[in-house]
Amino acid sequence: MNKAIIALDRSKSFRVYLTISTDLVQEAADIHDTTPLAAAGLGRVLTAAGLMGIMLKDADNKLTLHFKGDGPAKQILATAYSDGRVKGYISNPYVDLPLNDKGKLDVGGSLGVGELTVIKDLGMREPYTGTIALVDGEIADDLTAYFYISEQQNSSVALGVKVERDLSIGAAGGMIIQMLPDAEEGAVDALEKMIGEMPPLTTLISQLAEDDQDAGKRVAALLQKIFKDVPEEYQPEILEEREIRWECDCSRERIENALLTIGRKDLTEIIEEDGQAELQCQFCCKKYHFNKDDLVAILDRM
Ligand code: ZN
Repeated sequence: MNKAIIALDRSKSFRVYLTISTDLVQEAADIHDTTPLAAAGLGRVLTAAGLMGIMLKDADNKLTLHFKGDGPAKQILATAYSDGRVKGYISNPYVDLPLNDKGKLDVGGSLGVGELTVIKDLGMREPYTGTIALVDGEIADDLTAYFYISEQQNSSVALGVKVERDLSIGAAGGMIIQMLPDAEEGAVDALEKMIGEMPPLTTLISQLAEDDQDAGKRVAALLQKIFKDVPEEYQPEILEEREIRWECDCSRERIENALLTIGRKDLTEIIEEDGQAELQCQFCCKKYHFNKDDLVAILDRM
């Protein structure tokens, strides 16, 4: 299980959302049998979705991040709920490219030119939708641009996934800093300096004491580490500790409902030609099997 914290600085200039999401990303990588590059892309999107999920107000609020490009990864999608549940998938979990010119996994290259759509279901009649062109496909800058363009919100997003040589997830984490309307100029300057000098999040996570097994305390220690050189008046204070975890809410009933939408003609064809159907949840890869009698019963319900 992963913990996230929400913090507010002493001058009330900005809010910080921070998480160590190593377990979440490891679970997704195991389920989707990802290459390191796919794990990095999917892991960053899942981590960001988890943080943006806990920003939502009500329990049934839901958020979807959908990255779509002309690169070989094609699409990465993640859905998160305000209670910290996250699920997601990458269209091509076997995507593989040479490292980029910085020697890093080329997530931007794997997505290519494309767009990011954010869908927020806040329990109203229509969900809120915002779409922007991808900045570089590296996820963090795309989300920073999304906050600025679609939500008129000055934010800074940092995301990191470190894949070890044995293909396990060594560390993963994310931070979103949101400036508040009456932010002090000094706070903006202090943050700019901090972000400019900040080592990668995964490096900082790797430096945390291994012996501290309490996930919440580890995130708090990470927060302290990130802000250690920031002046006293802009030090963040933790408001809340939250949970972020992988969970898929698929069920046989949901898959049946999906079958109901394919139409009589196609379903009749499946019954006559295959006599059965096996459908897989694209999020958790769980397989649902329907025999002939099941399919006939669904046809009858149409
Ligand atoms: Zn599922």
